[in-house]
Formats: sequence, C-alpha cells, structure tokens
Amino acid sequence: MVTLMIIEAGLKNNKNILHYIFGAGSISELGSILARTSINKGRIAIYLIDQFFEANLGSLGQLPISGKDVIIYVDTKSEPTTHYVNGLMCSLMGRKEEPFAVVGIGGGTTLDVAKAISNLLTNGGHAEDYQGWDLVRIPGVYKVGIPTISGTGAEATRTCVMTHPPTGLKLGMNSDHTLYDQLILDPELTKTVPLEQYFYTGMDAYIHCVEALNGHYRNAVGDAYSGQVIKLCREVFLSDDIRSDENREKLMVASYLGGCAVATTYVGVLHPFSAGLSVVLGIHHGLANCIAMVAMSEFYPREVEEFWCMVQKQNIHIPRGVCKDLNRRQYDLLYESTIIHKKPLTNALGDGFESILTKDKIEKIFRSM
Ligand code: NAD
Ligand code: ZN
Repeated sequence: MVTLMIIEAGLKNNKNILHYIFGAGSISELGSILARTSINKGRIAIYLIDQFFEANLGSLGQLPISGKDVIIYVDTKSEPTTHYVNGLMCSLMGRKEEPFAVVGIGGGTTLDVAKAISNLLTNGGHAEDYQGWDLVRIPGVYKVGIPTISGTGAEATRTCVMTHPPTGLKLGMNSDHTLYDQLILDPELTKTVPLEQYFYTGMDAYIHCVEALNGHYRNAVGDAYSGQVIKLCREVFLSDDIRSDENREKLMVASYLGGCAVATTYVGVLHPFSAGLSVVLGIHHGLANCIAMVAMSEFYPREVEEFWCMVQKQNIHIPRGVCKDLNRRQYDLLYESTIIHKKPLTNALGDGFESILTKDKIEKIFRSM
C-alpha cells in the first residue's frame, strides 16, 4: 500500500472564483464592473495586456481606459520570472495615484503576471518572497481576469507561476488571495489565436485532468470537473474545426473547469517534466507539455494514444528529439528541475517516487521525447 506522507493534508478548504461573466461579447461589461468597484474617483486601474494586442487593441473592443490608468503590455516571448515581475513593480512604484483595480487580459503568462502584481501592490516585497504555499498575507488589489487563449486554467486557480532565475525554481504564489475577484470569459477573444498555439495551450486543460484523474489525491469534486473537461476536450480536438465558435466556447469552459479541477488536487508526472523543459530549455508551457506527453506512455498509456489521435487529426507539429544531444550539465539541470516537484510526483507515484524516477530514468525519459 502507498503511504503519502509528504502531502498528507491533500484537500484543503477550497475557494472558487466568486464572480464570472461568460459569453461572446462579454468584455463590454468591464466598464460597468470597474465603475461599481472604484470607490474613490481619481484612483487608477492598471491594465496588464498580452503584447499581441499592442498592435490590435481594437480587437478587444472599447476598453474603459481613462486618463491616468496605466497600460503595461506583457512580454510573452518568455514565461514570467520573478525578475520580470519585480521590474514591473519598480515601474509602478512612486506613482501618486493608488490603484483600485488590476485588469489582466491575455493568456496564462499575462493572467499570472497580473495576479502577482496585484499581490505585491498590497503586500510589498519581492515576487520570490511569496513563491510557495500561503505566504501572501493580505488580499491583493481587486483584480479582473480576462483570458484571450484557453487551456491553462490560470483564470481559475490560486497560483501564478513564475521562475526564480537564481534557483531555477518554477513555483507560484499559492494563496487564496491569488484568485481573481472577477472573470470575464469571452470566447470571441480567442478568435485570433494561431492554430498550433491554440492546440498547445488547449491541451493543457486535457493534461491537467488526465493527471488529476490518475493521481492518489482524486476526490469527488475534482473528478466531476475533470471528467467534464476530458469530454469537452475530446469534442473539440477530435472535431473538424477546433476554432469554430462552438469549439472556442467549449474550450474556454474546459480551461476554466480544468483550473477548478487541479485546484482540488495536484498535477502528476508530466508537469514536472514539462517544467524541466521550460526552465532548462526555455520551451513554453503548452508546447513543453505536448513534447513531454510523447514520453509518458508508461504512466498514461491510453491518454498518450488519444493525444496522438488528436495531434494527427489536427495535423499539429510536435517537435521530437529536443533532449537528444544535450550536455551533462543540462541533463543534471533537467533532473533537478523535475525531481523538485515533490507534490505532483507524490500524487502520481506515491511517497516512493524517487525510487521509481531515478536520475538515470529521468534522463532516459527526456532523451525519448
Ligand atoms: P501565453 O500566455 O504565454 O500565450 C501564448 C501565446 O499566445 C503568446 O505569444 C501570446 O501573445 C499569444 N496570444 C494570447 N492570446 C492571443 C490571442 N487572442 N490572439 C493571438 N495570440 C494570442 O500562453 P499560455 O499557454 O496561455 O500560458 C502559459 C503560462 O501559463 C506559463 O507561464 C505557465 O506556467 C502558466 N500556467 C499557469 C497556471 C496557473 O494556474 N496559474 C496553470 C498552467 C499554466
Ligand atoms: Zn499546465
């Protein structure tokens, strides 16, 4: 029998997003939401917007941006680091006007950066001070999340993932305070996502739930969310047009429910390997997941088969051999940045995960990707 000492607490007292609006065109509600929230006129909103929209701001409709509001276009070329977030905080310091709201508009990267900024504005300090569990002391600035690509579930979770460059640790501010206060889920906004990016990020929702359903910390609520997510992902990724109006709507729901699912449990073997690819080789989360999925037959055989059906049906390119010819130092780093994820690995393999995932085995798995 497997004993689970490391994360024996398992399920805690779960908090969900309190308010969300769903539907095509719902981004037009942002103005009235912010108007209800701003108590003192004159205070400002801080917009963190995916850099894709810098040249296409009009495609977001009429945003209620006024005089002194701050707009920051978030760099999505690399995934968020603590340095990047700290740098943004420096640029916000010294302003006279106090922010009443932080609005994040974009993918997982932008939504996570907005969460981190909201927490830091009220808690002070540096992003790395809050990487871990329940370290954020007080609620952040009121925040609204508006996803523009579906899959990560970042809109629904209590974390915001960042890498801390000095240690290579990829970990978020896991806290109830990190949850968005309000979501606007508008499937019209995902229309412009390129096909392969749509697939890579969308697959994150499927993978979160595959891992949740195969873990030791399954629970009835998480299972119900996950089952529905898998069903929606099958409908979308085995269909002829994954970006039809109906499928963009379904994937947005799957992303949100997938976030709710992992929030009740943990991911599994794949995400630690994917994190290794991101930290050591700079490969983005969605693509890194798809590359890692290829090497997961031992752990998730049926799901890997189904994944290949989806890849083939949609004619998606999954790079192979990315870890074939690395140097010793890189393999060591890949090992370290994978094995560090004790909670998901315990969820997947039990307390003895280190005797299953030996250093040699981990290197072999990376080489087989
Ligand atoms: P992303 O936010 O990095 O965006 C991917 C690409 O899509 C970018 O080039 C972006 O500019 C572009 N894009 C976004 N919306 C677009 C649109 N409407 N039209 C055209 N292009 C658009 O990617 P992602 O996969 O959503 O997020 C990955 C990040 O999310 C990683 O940093 C990962 O660690 C994090 N993540 C967080 C959680 C969480 O619970 N907080 C969960 C999973 C992943
Ligand atoms: Zn993920």
